[in-house]
Amino acid sequence: MRPEILFPLFKPVTAIAGIGPKLARMVGALAGPKIADLLWHLPSGIVDRRHSPLIAEARSGEIATLVVRVERHRKPPNPRLPYKVVVADDSGRMALVFFHAREDYLQKLLPVGETRVVSGRIELFEGEAQMAHPDHVGTHDELDRIRAVEPVYPLSVGLSPKVLAKAIAAALDQAPELPEWSDPAYVARNGWGPWRDSLKAAHAPGNLTDLAPGASPRMRLAYDELLANQLALALVRAAMRKVKGRAIAGDGRLRAQAIAALPFALTASQQTAVAEILADMAAETRMLRLLQGDVGSGKTVVALLAMLNAVEAGNQAAFMAPTDILARQHLATLAPLAEAAGVRVVLLTGRERGRGRDEALAGLASGEIAIAIGTHALFQEDVVFADLGLAVIDEQHRFGVHQRLTLAAKGRAVDMLVMTATPIPRTLMLTAYGDMDVSRLTEKPAGRKPVDTRAVPTDRLHEVTGAVGRALGEGARVYWVCPLVEESEALDVAAAEERFRHLAGLFGARVGLVHGRLKGPDKDRAMADFASGRIDILVATTVIEVGVDVPEASVMIVEHAERFGLAQLHQLRGRIGRGERASVCIMLYATPLTETARARLSILRETDDGFRIAEEDLRLRGAGELLGTRQSGLPEFRIANLVVHGELLAAARDDAKLVLSRDPELESPRGRALRTLLYLFERDEGVRNLRSG
Ligand code: ADP
Ligand code: MG
Repeated sequence: MRPEILFPLFKPVTAIAGIGPKLARMVGALAGPKIADLLWHLPSGIVDRRHSPLIAEARSGEIATLVVRVERHRKPPNPRLPYKVVVADDSGRMALVFFHAREDYLQKLLPVGETRVVSGRIELFEGEAQMAHPDHVGTHDELDRIRAVEPVYPLSVGLSPKVLAKAIAAALDQAPELPEWSDPAYVARNGWGPWRDSLKAAHAPGNLTDLAPGASPRMRLAYDELLANQLALALVRAAMRKVKGRAIAGDGRLRAQAIAALPFALTASQQTAVAEILADMAAETRMLRLLQGDVGSGKTVVALLAMLNAVEAGNQAAFMAPTDILARQHLATLAPLAEAAGVRVVLLTGRERGRGRDEALAGLASGEIAIAIGTHALFQEDVVFADLGLAVIDEQHRFGVHQRLTLAAKGRAVDMLVMTATPIPRTLMLTAYGDMDVSRLTEKPAGRKPVDTRAVPTDRLHEVTGAVGRALGEGARVYWVCPLVEESEALDVAAAEERFRHLAGLFGARVGLVHGRLKGPDKDRAMADFASGRIDILVATTVIEVGVDVPEASVMIVEHAERFGLAQLHQLRGRIGRGERASVCIMLYATPLTETARARLSILRETDDGFRIAEEDLRLRGAGELLGTRQSGLPEFRIANLVVHGELLAAARDDAKLVLSRDPELESPRGRALRTLLYLFERDEGVRNLRSG
């Protein structure tokens, strides 16, 4: 249960005076629906209103706060002309100028004969100082409040800065003092104040350096957020460990047969990874291991050996892939190897229906079928395993945490192996998994040749098609990738279709097309035709981005390469350079290139080291954008910025670990405070695993 002290912060923003449903929608879209969301909406700029000259000293262009007497109102003869209010001090006179003004409102705001504080930008009009639409008009009591450094908040269209600033100020008034949840020594060492003071300070920048992510109050808030993240992960992890796992240790009989059927020898890092996985599975605790290996590093066969280990021990295994195409491809490569060892494999995707599916389900339920390969369809309710011991999840960044857990729930204390080709930088890994065990495939299978990568402006398209023609003459197979813009799949498909017609006009029946809107069997046919060499140009959207393996393909053209992220281009390029031939990747780009796009393309030309590319990507884009946080299942942070706060993350991880080792149920006073922190950042899934109270 959420602690009572936080209740005010979890009210909807409509609880703030002056925020009705319409404004709430705008505030909601900008910051979030709750009062707490406003607390995390930090200023992005400042306006310094401390300059307070006499009228005669005021200079054009500067922001000034003046104390003036209201002398008279000059209503315009024609409503299209501005309404002017003449004000004065001992040094001179000036006009306050209002367009489309309501007279009664202005009379009330600026009564003749009274003293008022006005703040805004000074302009010169026909040699005279004036101020159009002052930002603030107040009484003399309000002078100190107005004559200050004012925070400027990120805005959205239609939301007035004044309304937002007022709402945020009201939210800040609701912020309670909270007990310290961080290690007091660490807080002191960093010179940080308590949470509430830091929050208020972050909203009251005095100068531009206070806006930087490295400013002390912002560091404290970022640390709080990262600590909540790391603590929640550590709690989930601890809960997983409490459920006793079981020792799964095969005798190696099936693995030996599959290895004998492989047309190659395992690389040293594949062998190491297999050994690490087998050791985890043999242990009494549940395995939660990430197998990280660059595209083409050979993760699939590692997964196969892990699955066969489960089967040797009398358990079943499931292998989940993010797309239909991939699941089918895995079946095609894995089934023959498994069958060489006498192990039955079935496929379950959204497309298997009717008798075939019923038989597969019956086989899995009875235990007769040992291995299931599929997509999300694997965790439909009617899929039941006799005894699932291992779940493998391929290209895990495509799945959310929830989906991973659902698959694990299909068995008792299921060991989990998640695989990714996206070389997630260490910092991001920590935020997504905490201290998950990691195996890495660091070497590529022997015989891989580097891909010759070039960037070419689109207006040289005809040269590229010419070169493609020559490559085809030499027997090459070519991927032609058209970009996918999330907003409009229809438009992308149209672009891909148009490119398909264009290339078919040049190269005839040797061209195929595959995209996300094709029906399943049509997709399969296109992929199979390309794999078998019946067609030798495959025009595709990014459906081929993950996992697709056609070793004979050696040329890739990427259109509008400037629209892709670094990691994505790296993934795409990983589809080639897998076979005997020297491979070429041509990135076509539309001019002019932005600085970032230029940097991305040149990094790709420099290196094919996935980890370096991922780090550069993080640097160029900031963590939020990397991989597209939403689809990746990586957490989004409100304040923490992993590019600058990486060290805080490491500290938060260590602290979370230490705290839980001393106080696993979070029952000490500090533990209680940490519970509040988890609720504050809505990471309370971790708390649910604790004893209540
Ligand atoms: P990824 O790690 O990207 O999933 P795959 O498992 O699809 O990579 O493997 C890529 C290709 O490399 C496949 O054709 C696979 O058969 C091949 N392969 C895997 N391991 C080796 C190896 N040790 N030696 C040679 N080829 C290998
Ligand atoms: Mg793969």
